[in-house]
Amino acid sequence: MKKKINRYLLLTVFLSLSTTLLMAIAVFHHMYREQIIEDMKTYGEVLSGMISSGEELRDHYRSPDSDIRITAISAGGDVVYDSQAGNETLGNHADRPEVKEAEETGEGYAVRHSDTLNRDMYYYAVQLENGDVLRLSKEEKNIWSVFESTLRPIIAIGIGMFLLCMLLSRYITNSLVRPIEKLASDIDNVDGIQTYEELVPFITTIQKQHEDILKSAKMRQEFTANVSHELKTPLTSISGYAELIETGLAGEDNIQRFAAEIHRNAKRLLTLINDIIRLSELDADDMEVAFSDVDLYGLAETCVESLRLNAESHGIHIECSGMPCIVHGNKEMLEELLYNLSDNAIRYNRLGGKVQVIIGKENGFPVLIVKDTGIGIPKESQERVFERFYRVDKSRSKQTGGTGLGLAIVKHIVAQHHAKLRLRSEVGVGTEVSVTFSNEKEAAAK
Ligand code: ATP
Ligand code: MG
Repeated sequence: MKKKINRYLLLTVFLSLSTTLLMAIAVFHHMYREQIIEDMKTYGEVLSGMISSGEELRDHYRSPDSDIRITAISAGGDVVYDSQAGNETLGNHADRPEVKEAEETGEGYAVRHSDTLNRDMYYYAVQLENGDVLRLSKEEKNIWSVFESTLRPIIAIGIGMFLLCMLLSRYITNSLVRPIEKLASDIDNVDGIQTYEELVPFITTIQKQHEDILKSAKMRQEFTANVSHELKTPLTSISGYAELIETGLAGEDNIQRFAAEIHRNAKRLLTLINDIIRLSELDADDMEVAFSDVDLYGLAETCVESLRLNAESHGIHIECSGMPCIVHGNKEMLEELLYNLSDNAIRYNRLGGKVQVIIGKENGFPVLIVKDTGIGIPKESQERVFERFYRVDKSRSKQTGGTGLGLAIVKHIVAQHHAKLRLRSEVGVGTEVSVTFSNEKEAAAK
């Protein structure tokens, strides 16, 4: 880009310099000729006013010490008088263009070039009263030879100007391109850099992409680290218990207990792996999700029924309320969402607690609410519970078998459905998670 701007600037300079020079020469040339002819014409007019024939000129005129040559030509073309030569040496002048013109119109001009002398001959002819023609001629340096002598300084000035312009154009190019270069070197710090208004949308897009790339790289890295850590814990237990049995260190009575531990940890590993697979499935952008009309209420009822036994075993009452409500969505995903939310509501509840799953409308939008009277989530963790592997109380969640992926999956599903997620919670009182679907889908479904 720099090179291109520079090149164009220099080309412009070169073209304008050379055209200016050529035009100046042309104008100067024209003026130079005009001036010589004008001088001769004035001289000729004065002279022709004083005499009326060639003879008169020959008899009375004494040529002044001038570089203008004066010739008088008779009507037949013979030279009657010439200020610089004897009459006999000159041939017939009748066919000279300026003489002919003067005979026809009263006056005539001509300029003839002499190659040998590299000079121009200027002629002016005027007809006298008796029909003779008075001709003035003057030899002048050719315009090119005038320029030849001044050519060197002109070229020197031209080169000087060109060099100056080169420096200037480099400066201009640099200052034009500098903001772009600065941007390229530090895209995250544009605040201090003066940029072009035209570049702003471009910069914003690049910045956003840049941020996204960094963020997703960081997330992926964290995820990998977390996965490894999460997988390691149950595997270490399994390996430990298995080793105790293998070496015979475990007594007969312990073997069953150790086997149960191995079983529990293996199950946990399987859950973890399933969740991770599920998340990576949801992460895949090209995943095709089949959407159809789904009755949220029907799904909620089924989910509540399937969890009732589990809830009651923890001394928790679970119920479903509301009205049938159709949303446009993916049935399996919505089932998963309901299951994850209800599972949390039961798991992080207290003895004798209550879980309510409510389906309804809020300002005309389909809404799904899962409400519990459980332990609640502290303010500072409320944002973070949707992060992968994030658990408020690691020990409690581990004891209940949580992996910290449930709400991450929920968040994903909500995004897929273009719905809105809201969490309200108070420690010791309970938690309420609501998912509001957009009306558009509902309308489209009808
Ligand atoms: P998973 O659901 O993958 O088996 P999990 O329940 O630990 O594991 P999430 O569902 O993502 O993971 O929840 C993250 C954390 O948020 C939980 O560990 C818990 O600390 C907190 N949490 C989630 N739901 C509730 C709730 N209803 N009441 C209190 N705390 C909750
Ligand atoms: Mg959960």
